[in-house]
Amino acid sequence: MSPARARAAAAGALRRSGGSAAPPQGRNRKRAAPRGGAPAAAPAPPPARHLFSDPAEVEILRGNLLAWYDRCKRDLPWRTLAVTEPDADRRGYAVWVSEIMLQQTQVATVIDYYNRWMQKWPTLQALAQASLEEVNELWAGLGYYSRGKRLQEAARKVPEVVSELAGQMPRMAEDLQKLLPGVGRYTAGAIASISYGQATGVVDGNVIRVLCRLRCIGADSSSPAVIDRLWDMANVLVDRSRPGDFNQALMELGATVCVPKAPLCGECPVKQHCQAWRRVEKELTFASQNLFGKPLPVPDVEDCGVGDCPLCPPATEPWDSSLGVTNFPRKAAKKPPRVMRTATCVLERRGCHGAPEYLIVQRPSSGLLAGLWEFPSLPLAQDLQEEKEREELADHLQAWMGRPVAGKGLQFIGEVIHIFSHIHQTYVVYSLHLDGDVTLDPALSPSRWVTEDEFHASAVSTAMKKVLKAHKKQCRKESSPVKSSKRKRRAGSACPGTQLSLRTFLRAPTAP
Ligand code: SF4
Repeated sequence: MSPARARAAAAGALRRSGGSAAPPQGRNRKRAAPRGGAPAAAPAPPPARHLFSDPAEVEILRGNLLAWYDRCKRDLPWRTLAVTEPDADRRGYAVWVSEIMLQQTQVATVIDYYNRWMQKWPTLQALAQASLEEVNELWAGLGYYSRGKRLQEAARKVPEVVSELAGQMPRMAEDLQKLLPGVGRYTAGAIASISYGQATGVVDGNVIRVLCRLRCIGADSSSPAVIDRLWDMANVLVDRSRPGDFNQALMELGATVCVPKAPLCGECPVKQHCQAWRRVEKELTFASQNLFGKPLPVPDVEDCGVGDCPLCPPATEPWDSSLGVTNFPRKAAKKPPRVMRTATCVLERRGCHGAPEYLIVQRPSSGLLAGLWEFPSLPLAQDLQEEKEREELADHLQAWMGRPVAGKGLQFIGEVIHIFSHIHQTYVVYSLHLDGDVTLDPALSPSRWVTEDEFHASAVSTAMKKVLKAHKKQCRKESSPVKSSKRKRRAGSACPGTQLSLRTFLRAPTAP
Protein backbone atom coordinates (compact mmCIF):
# COMPACT_ATOMS: atom_id res chain seq x y z
CA MET A 1 0.00 0.00 0.00
CA SER A 2 1.32 3.44 -0.92
CA PRO A 3 2.04 5.85 1.93
CA ALA A 4 -0.74 8.18 0.76
CA ARG A 5 -3.22 5.34 0.61
CA ALA A 6 -2.08 4.03 3.98
CA ARG A 7 -2.71 7.49 5.46
CA ALA A 8 -6.13 7.68 3.84
CA ALA A 9 -7.03 4.17 5.02
CA ALA A 10 -5.86 4.89 8.53
CA ALA A 11 -7.83 8.12 8.67
CA GLY A 12 -10.88 6.35 7.24
CA ALA A 13 -10.61 3.57 9.84
CA LEU A 14 -10.35 6.20 12.51
CA ARG A 15 -13.42 8.03 11.26
CA ARG A 16 -15.35 4.77 11.00
CA SER A 17 -14.41 3.73 14.54
CA GLY A 18 -15.35 7.16 15.89
CA GLY A 19 -12.23 6.96 18.06
CA SER A 20 -9.90 9.77 18.97
CA ALA A 21 -6.37 9.93 17.74
CA ALA A 22 -3.07 10.98 19.15
CA PRO A 23 -2.03 14.46 18.01
CA PRO A 24 -1.17 14.25 14.32
CA GLN A 25 2.52 13.82 13.60
CA GLY A 26 4.70 14.78 10.71
CA ARG A 27 3.96 17.21 7.91
CA ASN A 28 0.19 17.39 8.46
CA ARG A 29 0.34 18.14 12.13
CA LYS A 30 -1.09 21.44 13.26
CA ARG A 31 1.64 23.54 14.84
CA ALA A 32 1.32 24.44 18.50
CA ALA A 33 0.87 28.16 19.18
CA PRO A 34 4.21 29.84 19.89
CA ARG A 35 4.88 30.61 23.51
CA GLY A 36 6.39 33.68 25.06
CA GLY A 37 6.52 35.66 21.82
CA ALA A 38 8.64 33.08 19.93
CA PRO A 39 8.38 33.57 16.16
CA ALA A 40 5.47 31.69 14.54
CA ALA A 41 6.44 28.48 12.79
CA ALA A 42 6.36 28.45 8.97
CA PRO A 43 3.19 26.87 7.58
CA ALA A 44 3.45 23.09 7.10
CA PRO A 45 4.12 21.99 3.51
CA PRO A 46 1.10 20.44 1.78
CA PRO A 47 0.66 16.65 1.77
CA ALA A 48 2.72 14.74 -0.79
CA ARG A 49 -0.39 13.98 -2.80
CA HIS A 50 -0.46 17.60 -3.93
CA LEU A 51 3.23 17.90 -4.76
CA PHE A 52 5.71 16.77 -7.37
CA SER A 53 8.19 15.36 -4.91
CA ASP A 54 9.58 12.47 -6.97
CA PRO A 55 12.40 13.76 -9.24
CA ALA A 56 12.10 10.72 -11.49
CA GLU A 57 8.42 11.40 -12.10
CA VAL A 58 9.14 15.06 -12.81
CA GLU A 59 11.77 14.05 -15.36
CA ILE A 60 9.36 11.74 -17.19
CA LEU A 61 6.57 14.31 -17.14
CA ARG A 62 8.87 16.97 -18.65
CA GLY A 63 9.98 14.60 -21.40
CA ASN A 64 6.44 13.51 -22.28
CA LEU A 65 5.11 17.04 -22.32
CA LEU A 66 7.94 18.45 -24.43
CA ALA A 67 7.76 15.58 -26.93
CA TRP A 68 4.04 16.23 -27.33
CA TYR A 69 4.66 19.97 -27.72
CA ASP A 70 7.26 19.39 -30.42
CA ARG A 71 4.75 17.26 -32.31
CA CYS A 72 1.52 19.18 -31.77
CA LYS A 73 2.23 22.84 -31.03
CA ARG A 74 0.34 25.46 -32.98
CA ASP A 75 2.28 27.60 -35.39
CA LEU A 76 1.94 31.13 -33.95
CA PRO A 77 3.68 34.34 -35.04
CA TRP A 78 5.10 35.17 -31.59
CA ARG A 79 6.54 31.66 -31.30
CA THR A 80 8.27 32.11 -34.64
CA LEU A 81 9.72 35.46 -33.57
CA ALA A 82 10.88 34.04 -30.21
CA VAL A 83 12.93 31.46 -32.12
CA THR A 84 14.11 33.44 -35.16
CA GLU A 85 14.72 36.96 -33.81
CA PRO A 86 18.47 37.26 -33.13
CA ASP A 87 18.24 40.54 -31.20
CA ALA A 88 17.52 39.69 -27.56
CA ASP A 89 15.75 42.99 -26.79
CA ARG A 90 13.48 42.65 -29.81
CA ARG A 91 12.79 39.04 -28.82
CA GLY A 92 11.78 40.12 -25.33
CA TYR A 93 9.54 42.83 -26.75
CA ALA A 94 7.88 40.40 -29.19
CA VAL A 95 7.01 38.01 -26.35
CA TRP A 96 5.92 40.86 -24.10
CA VAL A 97 3.41 42.16 -26.68
CA SER A 98 2.01 38.67 -27.28
CA GLU A 99 1.59 37.96 -23.57
CA ILE A 100 -0.26 41.22 -22.98
CA MET A 101 -2.55 40.65 -25.97
CA LEU A 102 -3.26 37.06 -24.94
CA GLN A 103 -4.50 38.05 -21.48
CA GLN A 104 -8.24 37.27 -21.43
CA THR A 105 -8.27 36.92 -25.23
CA GLN A 106 -8.37 33.91 -27.54
CA VAL A 107 -5.32 33.09 -29.66
CA ALA A 108 -7.38 33.17 -32.88
CA THR A 109 -8.47 36.75 -32.17
CA VAL A 110 -5.00 37.92 -31.21
CA ILE A 111 -3.06 36.74 -34.30
CA ASP A 112 -4.22 39.48 -36.68
CA TYR A 113 -3.81 42.23 -34.06
CA TYR A 114 -0.36 40.94 -33.18
CA ASN A 115 0.83 40.88 -36.79
CA ARG A 116 -0.41 44.41 -37.44
CA TRP A 117 1.10 45.66 -34.19
CA MET A 118 4.53 44.16 -34.85
CA GLN A 119 4.50 45.47 -38.39
CA LYS A 120 3.70 48.98 -37.19
CA TRP A 121 5.90 48.99 -34.09
CA PRO A 122 8.57 46.27 -34.44
CA THR A 123 10.59 47.60 -31.50
CA LEU A 124 10.04 49.20 -28.14
CA GLN A 125 11.61 52.37 -29.50
CA ALA A 126 9.05 52.50 -32.31
CA LEU A 127 6.21 51.94 -29.85
CA ALA A 128 7.52 54.72 -27.62
CA GLN A 129 7.02 57.15 -30.54
CA ALA A 130 3.37 56.14 -31.03
CA SER A 131 0.49 58.27 -29.77
CA LEU A 132 -2.19 56.82 -27.52
CA GLU A 133 -4.70 57.53 -30.29
CA GLU A 134 -2.76 55.30 -32.70
CA VAL A 135 -2.48 52.57 -30.07
CA ASN A 136 -6.22 52.71 -29.35
CA GLU A 137 -7.03 52.60 -33.06
CA LEU A 138 -5.01 49.43 -33.55
CA TRP A 139 -6.35 47.91 -30.35
CA ALA A 140 -10.01 48.69 -31.19
CA GLY A 141 -12.05 45.50 -30.90
CA LEU A 142 -9.50 43.55 -28.87
CA GLY A 143 -11.09 44.56 -25.54
CA TYR A 144 -9.52 45.43 -22.18
CA TYR A 145 -8.20 48.63 -23.69
CA SER A 146 -6.04 49.62 -20.75
CA ARG A 147 -3.61 46.86 -21.83
CA GLY A 148 -2.59 48.75 -24.98
CA LYS A 149 -2.27 51.98 -23.06
CA ARG A 150 -0.06 50.38 -20.42
CA LEU A 151 2.19 48.80 -23.06
CA GLN A 152 2.70 52.17 -24.70
CA GLU A 153 3.36 53.86 -21.34
CA ALA A 154 5.87 51.15 -20.45
CA ALA A 155 7.63 51.54 -23.82
CA ARG A 156 8.21 55.22 -22.98
CA LYS A 157 9.80 54.34 -19.66
CA VAL A 158 12.05 51.56 -20.96
CA PRO A 159 14.90 53.84 -22.13
CA GLU A 160 15.29 55.00 -18.51
CA VAL A 161 15.46 51.38 -17.33
CA VAL A 162 17.80 50.37 -20.13
CA SER A 163 20.24 53.18 -19.41
CA GLU A 164 20.40 52.00 -15.80
CA LEU A 165 21.18 48.46 -16.99
CA ALA A 166 24.13 49.32 -19.24
CA GLY A 167 22.08 49.55 -22.39
CA GLN A 168 20.01 46.38 -22.34
CA MET A 169 16.53 45.28 -21.33
CA PRO A 170 16.26 43.42 -18.03
CA ARG A 171 16.60 39.66 -18.59
CA MET A 172 15.58 38.06 -15.29
CA ALA A 173 11.94 37.65 -14.25
CA GLU A 174 12.47 39.42 -10.93
CA ASP A 175 13.98 42.49 -12.68
CA LEU A 176 11.38 42.55 -15.41
CA GLN A 177 8.63 42.55 -12.82
CA LYS A 178 10.34 45.14 -10.66
CA LEU A 179 11.53 47.54 -13.34
CA LEU A 180 8.97 47.47 -16.14
CA PRO A 181 5.64 49.18 -15.49
CA GLY A 182 2.61 46.93 -16.05
CA VAL A 183 4.66 43.71 -16.07
CA GLY A 184 3.34 41.31 -13.45
CA ARG A 185 4.72 38.03 -12.19
CA TYR A 186 3.23 35.94 -14.99
CA THR A 187 4.35 38.21 -17.84
CA ALA A 188 7.82 38.55 -16.33
CA GLY A 189 8.15 34.76 -16.08
CA ALA A 190 6.95 34.28 -19.65
CA ILE A 191 9.36 36.87 -21.11
CA ALA A 192 12.31 35.61 -19.05
CA SER A 193 11.77 31.94 -19.87
CA ILE A 194 10.69 32.22 -23.52
CA SER A 195 13.01 35.03 -24.63
CA TYR A 196 16.01 34.60 -22.36
CA GLY A 197 15.92 30.94 -21.26
CA GLN A 198 15.58 31.55 -17.52
CA ALA A 199 14.35 28.40 -15.75
CA THR A 200 11.38 29.98 -14.07
CA GLY A 201 7.79 28.77 -14.06
CA VAL A 202 4.61 30.59 -15.07
CA VAL A 203 1.08 30.37 -13.75
CA ASP A 204 -1.84 31.56 -15.87
CA GLY A 205 -5.42 30.32 -16.17
CA ASN A 206 -4.45 27.32 -18.33
CA VAL A 207 -1.61 26.32 -16.03
CA ILE A 208 -3.88 26.60 -12.97
CA ARG A 209 -6.34 24.19 -14.56
CA VAL A 210 -3.71 21.64 -15.58
CA LEU A 211 -1.86 21.68 -12.24
CA CYS A 212 -5.05 21.50 -10.16
CA ARG A 213 -6.08 18.41 -12.13
CA LEU A 214 -2.65 16.81 -12.07
CA ARG A 215 -2.54 17.12 -8.30
CA CYS A 216 -6.25 17.06 -7.33
CA ILE A 217 -6.21 20.56 -5.89
CA GLY A 218 -9.81 21.36 -5.05
CA ALA A 219 -9.43 24.34 -2.74
CA ASP A 220 -10.36 27.76 -4.15
CA SER A 221 -7.84 28.21 -6.98
CA SER A 222 -8.11 31.98 -6.83
CA SER A 223 -7.03 32.16 -3.18
CA PRO A 224 -3.53 33.51 -2.52
CA ALA A 225 -2.55 30.35 -0.59
CA VAL A 226 -3.38 28.06 -3.52
CA ILE A 227 -1.84 30.42 -6.07
CA ASP A 228 1.41 30.42 -4.06
CA ARG A 229 1.46 26.62 -4.07
CA LEU A 230 0.89 26.55 -7.81
CA TRP A 231 3.82 28.90 -8.38
CA ASP A 232 6.01 26.62 -6.27
CA MET A 233 4.86 23.68 -8.33
CA ALA A 234 5.44 25.46 -11.65
CA ASN A 235 8.98 26.34 -10.54
CA VAL A 236 9.68 22.73 -9.59
CA LEU A 237 8.32 21.35 -12.85
CA VAL A 238 9.86 23.75 -15.37
CA ASP A 239 12.43 22.04 -17.58
CA ARG A 240 15.93 23.36 -16.90
CA SER A 241 17.18 23.11 -20.46
CA ARG A 242 14.03 24.20 -22.33
CA PRO A 243 12.13 26.43 -19.87
CA GLY A 244 10.40 28.57 -22.49
CA ASP A 245 9.17 25.57 -24.46
CA PHE A 246 8.10 23.80 -21.28
CA ASN A 247 6.03 26.76 -20.09
CA GLN A 248 4.45 27.15 -23.48
CA ALA A 249 3.76 23.40 -23.58
CA LEU A 250 1.96 23.51 -20.24
CA MET A 251 -0.15 26.45 -21.42
CA GLU A 252 -0.75 24.77 -24.79
CA LEU A 253 -1.93 21.63 -23.03
CA GLY A 254 -4.44 23.71 -21.04
CA ALA A 255 -5.61 25.53 -24.17
CA THR A 256 -6.05 22.52 -26.46
CA VAL A 257 -6.32 19.28 -24.43
CA CYS A 258 -6.96 19.94 -20.76
CA VAL A 259 -9.73 22.39 -21.63
CA PRO A 260 -12.28 23.59 -19.08
CA LYS A 261 -15.40 21.64 -20.03
CA ALA A 262 -14.59 18.47 -21.98
CA PRO A 263 -10.89 17.68 -21.58
CA LEU A 264 -9.42 15.15 -24.01
CA CYS A 265 -7.82 12.94 -21.37
CA GLY A 266 -7.43 10.06 -23.83
CA GLU A 267 -5.01 12.19 -25.89
CA CYS A 268 -3.21 13.73 -22.94
CA PRO A 269 0.57 13.23 -22.88
CA VAL A 270 0.74 13.48 -19.07
CA LYS A 271 -2.28 11.43 -18.04
CA GLN A 272 -0.08 8.89 -16.30
CA HIS A 273 0.88 11.70 -13.87
CA CYS A 274 -2.65 12.99 -13.42
CA GLN A 275 -4.30 12.21 -10.11
CA ALA A 276 -7.72 13.41 -11.25
CA TRP A 277 -7.60 11.08 -14.26
CA ARG A 278 -6.43 8.18 -12.08
CA ARG A 279 -9.35 8.66 -9.79
CA VAL A 280 -11.82 8.62 -12.68
CA GLU A 281 -10.18 5.47 -14.07
CA LYS A 282 -10.50 3.75 -10.73
CA GLU A 283 -14.15 4.63 -10.44
CA LEU A 284 -14.80 3.35 -13.96
CA THR A 285 -13.01 0.09 -13.27
CA PHE A 286 -14.95 -0.36 -10.08
CA ALA A 287 -18.26 0.36 -11.83
CA SER A 288 -17.58 -2.04 -14.72
CA GLN A 289 -16.44 -4.89 -12.47
CA ASN A 290 -19.43 -4.38 -10.25
CA LEU A 291 -21.62 -4.57 -13.34
CA PHE A 292 -20.29 -8.04 -14.11
CA GLY A 293 -21.22 -9.30 -10.66
CA LYS A 294 -17.79 -9.04 -9.10
CA PRO A 295 -18.47 -6.86 -6.10
CA LEU A 296 -15.29 -5.07 -5.06
CA PRO A 297 -14.55 -2.89 -2.12
CA VAL A 298 -15.44 0.76 -2.75
CA PRO A 299 -12.34 2.59 -4.03
CA ASP A 300 -10.31 4.38 -1.43
CA VAL A 301 -11.29 7.87 -0.57
CA GLU A 302 -8.54 9.69 -2.42
CA ASP A 303 -8.45 12.87 -0.42
CA CYS A 304 -5.45 13.30 1.81
CA GLY A 305 -7.09 11.64 4.74
CA VAL A 306 -6.43 14.86 6.55
CA GLY A 307 -9.59 16.69 7.50
CA ASP A 308 -8.14 20.16 7.22
CA CYS A 309 -5.95 19.81 4.13
CA PRO A 310 -5.71 23.31 2.66
CA LEU A 311 -5.57 21.99 -0.90
CA CYS A 312 -8.31 19.33 -0.94
CA PRO A 313 -11.90 20.20 -1.86
CA PRO A 314 -13.80 21.56 1.14
CA ALA A 315 -15.77 18.92 3.06
CA THR A 316 -18.99 20.69 2.06
CA GLU A 317 -18.21 20.21 -1.64
CA PRO A 318 -16.64 16.77 -1.98
CA TRP A 319 -15.64 15.02 -5.21
CA ASP A 320 -18.63 14.63 -7.54
CA SER A 321 -18.27 11.51 -9.71
CA SER A 322 -20.51 12.93 -12.42
CA LEU A 323 -18.00 15.73 -13.06
CA GLY A 324 -14.92 13.52 -13.45
CA VAL A 325 -11.69 15.45 -13.84
CA THR A 326 -13.60 18.72 -14.15
CA ASN A 327 -14.05 18.57 -10.38
CA PHE A 328 -10.86 20.63 -10.57
CA PRO A 329 -10.10 23.46 -10.43
CA ARG A 330 -12.64 25.18 -8.21
CA LYS A 331 -13.14 28.86 -7.68
CA ALA A 332 -15.08 30.88 -5.17
CA ALA A 333 -18.28 32.23 -6.71
CA LYS A 334 -17.63 35.35 -8.78
CA LYS A 335 -19.23 38.62 -7.83
CA PRO A 336 -22.14 39.25 -10.19
CA PRO A 337 -21.32 41.91 -12.81
CA ARG A 338 -22.44 45.47 -12.20
CA VAL A 339 -25.58 46.29 -14.19
CA MET A 340 -25.46 49.58 -16.09
CA ARG A 341 -27.76 51.36 -18.53
CA THR A 342 -26.48 54.04 -20.84
CA ALA A 343 -28.47 56.13 -23.31
CA THR A 344 -26.61 56.73 -26.53
CA CYS A 345 -27.56 58.67 -29.62
CA VAL A 346 -26.41 58.18 -33.20
CA LEU A 347 -26.37 61.75 -34.48
CA GLU A 348 -26.37 61.68 -38.25
CA ARG A 349 -26.02 64.32 -40.95
CA ARG A 350 -25.44 64.32 -44.68
CA GLY A 351 -21.79 64.91 -45.49
CA CYS A 352 -20.63 67.04 -48.38
CA HIS A 353 -20.87 64.12 -50.85
CA GLY A 354 -24.29 63.05 -49.59
CA ALA A 355 -22.95 60.14 -47.55
CA PRO A 356 -24.03 59.99 -43.91
CA GLU A 357 -21.66 61.24 -41.23
CA TYR A 358 -21.85 60.51 -37.53
CA LEU A 359 -20.80 62.52 -34.52
CA ILE A 360 -18.36 60.76 -32.21
CA VAL A 361 -16.91 62.14 -28.99
CA GLN A 362 -13.88 61.09 -26.99
CA ARG A 363 -14.17 59.48 -23.58
CA PRO A 364 -12.07 60.72 -20.64
CA SER A 365 -8.43 59.63 -20.54
CA SER A 366 -8.93 57.36 -17.51
CA GLY A 367 -11.47 54.77 -16.44
CA LEU A 368 -13.45 52.34 -18.58
CA LEU A 369 -12.63 52.56 -22.32
CA ALA A 370 -10.26 55.45 -21.61
CA GLY A 371 -9.62 57.70 -24.59
CA LEU A 372 -11.88 55.74 -26.95
CA TRP A 373 -14.49 57.39 -29.16
CA GLU A 374 -18.24 56.83 -28.89
CA PHE A 375 -21.60 58.25 -29.87
CA PRO A 376 -22.72 60.90 -27.35
CA SER A 377 -23.74 58.80 -24.35
CA LEU A 378 -25.14 59.31 -20.91
CA PRO A 379 -25.20 56.81 -18.00
CA LEU A 380 -28.75 56.37 -16.73
CA ALA A 381 -30.13 55.69 -13.28
CA GLN A 382 -31.79 52.29 -13.02
CA ASP A 383 -35.58 52.17 -13.43
CA LEU A 384 -35.79 55.56 -15.09
CA GLN A 385 -39.08 56.12 -16.95
CA GLU A 386 -38.65 56.20 -20.70
CA GLU A 387 -39.89 59.76 -21.01
CA LYS A 388 -37.38 60.94 -18.43
CA GLU A 389 -34.68 58.93 -20.19
CA ARG A 390 -35.36 60.78 -23.45
CA GLU A 391 -35.40 64.13 -21.70
CA GLU A 392 -32.07 63.53 -20.02
CA LEU A 393 -30.48 62.40 -23.27
CA ALA A 394 -31.96 65.40 -25.10
CA ASP A 395 -30.49 67.76 -22.46
CA HIS A 396 -27.13 66.06 -22.84
CA LEU A 397 -27.22 66.46 -26.61
CA GLN A 398 -28.27 70.08 -26.26
CA ALA A 399 -25.08 70.77 -24.33
CA TRP A 400 -23.12 69.32 -27.24
CA MET A 401 -24.93 71.13 -29.99
CA GLY A 402 -25.69 74.43 -28.29
CA ARG A 403 -29.31 74.38 -29.44
CA PRO A 404 -32.51 72.87 -28.07
CA VAL A 405 -33.21 69.22 -28.77
CA ALA A 406 -36.69 67.84 -28.18
CA GLY A 407 -36.83 64.47 -26.43
CA LYS A 408 -39.70 63.50 -28.71
CA GLY A 409 -37.52 64.06 -31.74
CA LEU A 410 -35.23 61.20 -30.76
CA GLN A 411 -36.04 57.96 -32.52
CA PHE A 412 -35.81 54.86 -30.41
CA ILE A 413 -33.74 52.17 -32.15
CA GLY A 414 -33.50 49.39 -29.60
CA GLU A 415 -31.30 48.08 -26.85
CA VAL A 416 -27.81 46.72 -27.38
CA ILE A 417 -26.29 44.60 -24.68
CA HIS A 418 -22.55 44.35 -24.23
CA ILE A 419 -20.78 42.41 -21.52
CA PHE A 420 -17.55 43.89 -20.25
CA SER A 421 -15.48 41.81 -17.82
CA HIS A 422 -17.28 43.17 -14.78
CA ILE A 423 -20.15 45.19 -16.22
CA HIS A 424 -23.39 44.12 -17.85
CA GLN A 425 -23.99 47.16 -20.00
CA THR A 426 -27.25 47.93 -21.80
CA TYR A 427 -27.08 50.71 -24.37
CA VAL A 428 -30.48 52.28 -24.99
CA VAL A 429 -29.99 53.46 -28.55
CA TYR A 430 -31.67 56.50 -30.12
CA SER A 431 -30.96 58.32 -33.33
CA LEU A 432 -31.40 61.85 -34.56
CA HIS A 433 -31.01 63.14 -38.12
CA LEU A 434 -29.73 66.67 -38.32
CA ASP A 435 -30.36 69.21 -41.04
CA GLY A 436 -27.73 71.83 -41.53
CA ASP A 437 -24.47 72.17 -39.72
CA VAL A 438 -23.86 72.05 -36.02
CA THR A 439 -21.25 74.10 -34.25
CA LEU A 440 -19.68 71.86 -31.66
CA ASP A 441 -18.63 73.43 -28.41
CA PRO A 442 -14.80 73.25 -28.24
CA ALA A 443 -14.98 73.54 -24.44
CA LEU A 444 -16.42 70.03 -24.27
CA SER A 445 -14.54 66.76 -24.90
CA PRO A 446 -12.96 66.38 -28.34
CA SER A 447 -15.54 65.45 -30.99
CA ARG A 448 -15.65 65.00 -34.74
CA TRP A 449 -17.85 63.98 -37.64
CA VAL A 450 -16.86 60.73 -39.36
CA THR A 451 -18.04 58.70 -42.34
CA GLU A 452 -18.81 55.06 -41.76
CA ASP A 453 -15.36 54.00 -42.96
CA GLU A 454 -13.70 56.55 -40.72
CA PHE A 455 -15.82 55.36 -37.82
CA HIS A 456 -14.54 51.80 -38.24
CA ALA A 457 -10.94 52.98 -38.54
CA SER A 458 -11.26 55.05 -35.35
CA ALA A 459 -10.54 53.92 -31.81
CA VAL A 460 -14.11 52.82 -31.07
CA SER A 461 -15.16 49.89 -28.92
CA THR A 462 -16.94 46.77 -30.16
CA ALA A 463 -20.03 47.94 -28.24
CA MET A 464 -20.20 51.13 -30.33
CA LYS A 465 -19.83 49.08 -33.52
CA LYS A 466 -22.86 47.08 -32.39
CA VAL A 467 -24.75 50.33 -31.80
CA LEU A 468 -24.02 51.56 -35.33
CA LYS A 469 -25.02 48.18 -36.72
CA ALA A 470 -28.38 48.39 -34.93
CA HIS A 471 -28.90 51.89 -36.31
CA LYS A 472 -28.11 50.84 -39.87
CA LYS A 473 -30.48 47.90 -39.64
CA GLN A 474 -33.21 50.26 -38.64
CA CYS A 475 -32.37 52.54 -41.58
CA ARG A 476 -32.53 49.62 -44.01
CA LYS A 477 -35.85 48.59 -42.55
CA GLU A 478 -37.22 52.08 -43.00
CA SER A 479 -36.08 52.27 -46.59
CA SER A 480 -37.91 49.03 -47.45
CA PRO A 481 -41.53 50.00 -48.44
CA VAL A 482 -43.16 46.70 -47.36
CA LYS A 483 -41.45 46.52 -44.04
CA SER A 484 -41.96 50.24 -43.56
CA SER A 485 -45.75 49.90 -43.65
CA LYS A 486 -45.56 47.05 -41.15
CA ARG A 487 -43.32 49.16 -38.99
CA LYS A 488 -45.87 51.94 -38.87
CA ARG A 489 -48.21 49.62 -37.06
CA ARG A 490 -45.49 48.70 -34.64
CA ALA A 491 -43.96 52.11 -34.08
CA GLY A 492 -41.31 52.21 -31.42
CA SER A 493 -40.27 48.57 -31.74
CA ALA A 494 -36.62 47.70 -31.62
CA CYS A 495 -34.86 46.96 -34.87
CA PRO A 496 -34.33 43.28 -35.70
CA GLY A 497 -31.34 41.72 -34.06
CA THR A 498 -31.44 43.98 -31.05
CA GLN A 499 -32.98 42.91 -27.85
CA LEU A 500 -36.35 44.31 -26.83
CA SER A 501 -36.66 45.47 -23.28
CA LEU A 502 -39.75 44.33 -21.44
CA ARG A 503 -40.81 47.95 -21.25
CA THR A 504 -40.49 48.36 -25.01
CA PHE A 505 -42.30 45.13 -25.62
CA LEU A 506 -45.24 46.17 -23.48
CA ARG A 507 -45.35 49.72 -24.75
CA ALA A 508 -48.63 50.60 -26.51
CA PRO A 509 -48.22 51.43 -30.21
CA THR A 510 -48.13 55.15 -30.87
CA ALA A 511 -50.04 56.89 -33.64
CA PRO A 512 -48.12 57.06 -36.89
FE1 SF4 B 1 -6.03 17.26 -17.92
FE2 SF4 B 1 -7.10 14.87 -18.42
FE3 SF4 B 1 -4.53 15.35 -18.92
FE4 SF4 B 1 -5.38 15.16 -16.45
S1 SF4 B 1 -5.39 13.54 -17.97
S2 SF4 B 1 -3.99 16.71 -17.24
S3 SF4 B 1 -7.37 16.09 -16.59
S4 SF4 B 1 -6.29 16.30 -19.93
